[in-house]
This record gives sequence, C-alpha cells and structure tokens, in this order.
Amino acid sequence: MKTKLLYLITLMCSSLFLNAQTHQATYQTLVNQVHLDTVTRKLQQFEALGIKEMGTAAQDNTRKWIIRHYERLGYTDIQEQEVTVGQKKGTNIIVTKKGKVHPTKFIVVGAHYDTLNGPGVNDNGTGTVTLLEMAKVFAHLDTEYAMKFIHFTAEEVGLIGSQHYVREIAVPQNLDIHLMLNIDEVGGVKGKVNNRIVCERDESDPKHNNQASSEITQQMASIIPMYTTLETDIGRAYSSDYMPFQAAGYTITGLFEQHYSSVPHTPNDLLKNMDIPYFQQVVKGAIATVLHFTNAEQKLATTEQDEAGLTIYPNPVHDQIFIKTNQATSKPKAYKILNLEGQVIKSAHKSDFEPINVSYLSKGHFILSLHFPEKTFNYPFIKK
Ligand SMILES: [Zn+2]
Repeated sequence: MKTKLLYLITLMCSSLFLNAQTHQATYQTLVNQVHLDTVTRKLQQFEALGIKEMGTAAQDNTRKWIIRHYERLGYTDIQEQEVTVGQKKGTNIIVTKKGKVHPTKFIVVGAHYDTLNGPGVNDNGTGTVTLLEMAKVFAHLDTEYAMKFIHFTAEEVGLIGSQHYVREIAVPQNLDIHLMLNIDEVGGVKGKVNNRIVCERDESDPKHNNQASSEITQQMASIIPMYTTLETDIGRAYSSDYMPFQAAGYTITGLFEQHYSSVPHTPNDLLKNMDIPYFQQVVKGAIATVLHFTNAEQKLATTEQDEAGLTIYPNPVHDQIFIKTNQATSKPKAYKILNLEGQVIKSAHKSDFEPINVSYLSKGHFILSLHFPEKTFNYPFIKK
C-alpha cells in the first residue's frame, strides 16, 4: 500500500558505512539455493488463489497455503491471530524459531498477504513468497537470534493486521524485537530495467529509534550487493506493516521495488507484469540480510556431520574431499558432483575411503552427492 513517490538517496559507496559486513561464502551457498523455477511456481500458486480481500474464501485459502509451507518445513510454533475489520475477518500468521544464543531476542520478518481488487502477485505475493523461501533456508539452520516470520492480514485496509499484532501481542508481552524487516512489493516492473532495490529506513516520529533504523538499513544496503546482482538505494519507510512497529518504538527496515508499479490494487497485479529474475535477486538479498542479522551458524564452514556419524570435510575445498564413517557397513558406493543448477559434472563409483579429487573443478559452489546403499547424502561445498 504505497501511494507517495519515493524519496531516494543513491548510495555512493557502501564502504563509507560503519559496521560494514563482509561476504560469507557459506551464506552465498545458501542464498544460491533460491531458484527461478521455484519462486515462479510459488508466485503462480499465489496468483491462482485469487483476490484475497478481508473475509473471503480466497484469503482463508491463502492462509492455509502459507501454514502448509511452514508445517512441511518442520516449523512447529505457528500461531494464528484473528483480526476483525467491521464484519470481516482475517488472520495474522506468526511463525517463531528460537535463537540459540538469544532464545527470545527476535529478528521479525513481515509481509502482508491480503490483497485489494486483484490477486496481488506483486503487492504482496512477492513479500509472501520471500518469507516462504527464507523459511526454507532457515528451517535447518541454527541462528544466534530468534526469528519470527509474520504474514499479516488487513494491511490493505489500513495496516490493521500489524497494528493488532503490535498492540495485542508485541507490546503487552514486552517482546524483545531487535529489528523488524518488512517486505512489500518487490516484484519489479516488466519492460523496465530493474536492477536496484530500495532499502527503507525510519524517518518518522518518534525519532528516538530512527538512528538504529538508519544503521540497520545501511548494513542491509551494503549486504545485498555482495550476494546478488542488485545495487541498492536508501528510501523512506512509509505506508506498510513496519509503521505500527516503528510507532511503538521498535527498530524497523524495509524493502521496496525500484520502480513504482502501476498495477497494485488492480486486477492486473499479475505475474506477467512483473520481472521475475529481479524478484529472485531480491529474495536472495533478503535472505543474505537475515543470515547476517540473525548471525546464522555457518554450518558449511568446516565439516558436515550427520546423525549416523558420517563426517565430510573440509569446506571450502582446495583439491580433495575426505569422508569418514563410524560404521564399516555404511560406505558410499558411488558419488556425483553437481553444480547448483543440478547438472552432473562428474559421476563415479567409489569403493574405498580415499579422498575424492575435485582439483579439476573451477572456483565456485557445488554439491557432492554421496550414494550409500540405504541413502543419498548431499554435501554442498565451495571449491576454492
Ligand atoms: Zn502492500
């Protein structure tokens, strides 16, 4: 729900900023798991769910569709908050993941899923799908901070869903929200060059939380170009679900597309009017940002170990990958090396535990797929 022109300051140089973030190869491997066909399919499903206005079956079916994604990924803390506007009902969906170091200090990532007059693929299927893709990456990752993925209802009728959440849950429960990242309308405009993303900071009253928002937003603006093809601009946060959070004194930031689309709130807010490769980059950037902000454990950094005692190392790899098991019976019989698009680069039988030679690979991200008699184990790695 954006109605005013954006106020932009082009970032001249991200190295000017304090707290500059450094690129993490392991985060890049995770970010690269966002595929064009997957995000396209999810947006198609969102489009097919129809016009998600308050009190409609379409909105309720979308609620079920969102919850199913989290359940499939293994999330168990899924809360529903009913929101009533006049006679019409909607539901906020709040999915919580505990933090390993700070179990209840939250990074909140929010997006509304209600729409107006049309299926709302850009506004805000894009924010919705960004959260779903992000949830996939974080499902099996330990993070220092706790996380909440919140899918808001009733944004289009005046930020009512997020107001209810802040007023009825966040403030009375005195939730320790480290920051709230809002994602609303990041699909790009078909036919335009979409290669920048607006990182939005708090410039509204109250002012005491503006500086923290500015710092966080600048960090995000320097993180995104490290992991994606996008450049970043800084803009002003307004007219979306972060505003009730900022009004309550929380630190906020947001993502919004570079060109203001003319189709939101019309029947033409459709996939065909978007720039899907651009959206894919935005999803990657949002995930990279949240990996940094939650200080996600870099599981791929050295060694992968599964519960059966299989150990694979090192990561990143120079020339050889070593495999150890603690059971003589479970030895890999064959292996494949794949690139991240799933293409097989090498396929071989393996009868012993000599290291696997990968010296012939170029630098980049790959997957070692080990085939055991009873299972297949995939080891994402970086070739140095
Ligand atoms: Zn919106």
